[in-house]
Amino acid sequence: MGIKTSKAYLESLKKQKPEVYIGGERIDDVVSSKYFRISLEEMCKFYDWANDPEKEKDFVFWSPVIDEKVSFWTHLRRTPEEVRKIIETLKKNNARHFCSMCMITGLNVLWAVTYDIDEARGTNYHERLKNFFMELQKYDLRYCMGVMDPKGDRSLPPSRQSDPDLYLRVVDKDKNGIIVNGAKMHTSDAPITHYIFTCPSGVLQEAGKDYAVSFAIPIDTKGLKFITRPAPGPLEPKEMESPASSHIGFVECLSVFDHVFIPWERVFMCGEWEFTENLIRYFSPYVRICKGACTSARTDILAGTAALIAHYNGVGKAGHIRSKITDMMISSEIGWGCALGAVANSVMHPSGIPIPDVSISNAGLYHSRLRFIEFLGTLQEIAGGIVTTMPGETEYKNEETRKYIEKYFKGRSDIPTEDRLRLLYFIQDLTASRFGGYLMASAICAGGTPETNRVEVARSYDLQEKINNVKALCNIK
Ligand SMILES: Cc1cc2nc3c(=O)[nH]c(=O)nc-3n(C[C@H](O)[C@H](O)[C@H](O)COP(=O)(O)OP(=O)(O)OC[C@H]3O[C@@H](n4cnc5c(N)ncnc54)[C@H](O)[C@@H]3O)c2cc1C
Repeated sequence: MGIKTSKAYLESLKKQKPEVYIGGERIDDVVSSKYFRISLEEMCKFYDWANDPEKEKDFVFWSPVIDEKVSFWTHLRRTPEEVRKIIETLKKNNARHFCSMCMITGLNVLWAVTYDIDEARGTNYHERLKNFFMELQKYDLRYCMGVMDPKGDRSLPPSRQSDPDLYLRVVDKDKNGIIVNGAKMHTSDAPITHYIFTCPSGVLQEAGKDYAVSFAIPIDTKGLKFITRPAPGPLEPKEMESPASSHIGFVECLSVFDHVFIPWERVFMCGEWEFTENLIRYFSPYVRICKGACTSARTDILAGTAALIAHYNGVGKAGHIRSKITDMMISSEIGWGCALGAVANSVMHPSGIPIPDVSISNAGLYHSRLRFIEFLGTLQEIAGGIVTTMPGETEYKNEETRKYIEKYFKGRSDIPTEDRLRLLYFIQDLTASRFGGYLMASAICAGGTPETNRVEVARSYDLQEKINNVKALCNIK
């Protein structure tokens, strides 16, 4: 099959019975729940785009693994050109849609790690992962990434936490499989996917070998529970007041594994703590190029919005405003350029996939994500205080108050007040709403924090070589 329709995707969700809690109750059917409307709408787009002749070139690929067409989501990228294609799609698509689900790169990372473990240990994790891949590709399935553990006291490793379940761990195993206990945090969109795919969230030592576990299981596996919050937008769409957040956003989850059984054929790591360093080394550049391209695209949205509201307000030519918009352009280009550069500098892993450059990818994201946060404030500064104080859509639609809003919310005389209001609501959605906070968190925390980027750059940048160069320049022997 390879490519499903969004209708078939929704039907497949109806057949699953995951244990999902939201809005204070357990729900049986995510497809008809108001809490999942936004996330489902967003997920459906990927199926629709794969069936849209105009978008197909970005969202459909030929898979040599199953010798069929497969989705953007499940395709294994084997060359730097293919990885470049992912970030080009993110850059182009996110400029209108904010998100292109960059968790899709998770499987590439495990492809390399399972290969490393098998080579060293004679295990057959890689074959199992390949089989899993084939199933995802064949039935066009979706998965969520369960990487981040609750982590408890951050100063302590998993094995020294007061509660051993604060990192997901293996508590038992037999000839059929393993039993895991613990949780994963922030598993975006979990209840509307088909599988949860897990791996350790950090480098482990020998004492933490029970935590060195990776696997994939259907989301309705017994003992798996999703404690969920809805996407940040309104439960009912508000086309004028919440133009972005009415349609874009993830359901977020605490995913609890209460003594969950995993059959061996779906286990991709079990106890090989020495390979968690490789896992993080491969994970880091993949996540960072995707977030770098995404942040660049979102910065482009801010630049376009800032230029448009400045024009509507009659200050489009003001020097300080143009200068700030130019800063947005520069930051976007740096983020994008580093993502491209990191892909161009990829090294091939013996498993047959490229690993992008760690240092450049982290440096680019570090820069662009911090400036993105600053630019959210800049956008408010350019738009003015009405972003947070303006009357709501209901007042604009009320005949008694509309005429006053029309009169006093006029900017330039040649711009209809309604256009200016729509743009201001968009800016409110981006910078002064729960969705705005989500965009900020997504820039600052999703895919690892800025401090992680600093550590990665400091670790891989060859400072000694630069010191030696300076000594040579100064004739210091
Ligand atoms: C919108 C969004 C979507 C996400 N989606 C997913 C997803 O789908 N799947 C998934 O697995 N994760 C997801 N994440 C999680 C994301 O990867 C984490 O939020 C991120 O890696 C930071 O981890 P944390 O939130 O536990 O923060 P922490 O690690 O607690 O960091 C908080 C602060 O503490 C500092 N700190 C932490 N540990 C130490 C230490 N040992 N010593 C000194 N300082 C320390 C950090 O530098 C940081 O400043 C998502 C996050 C967001 C915001």
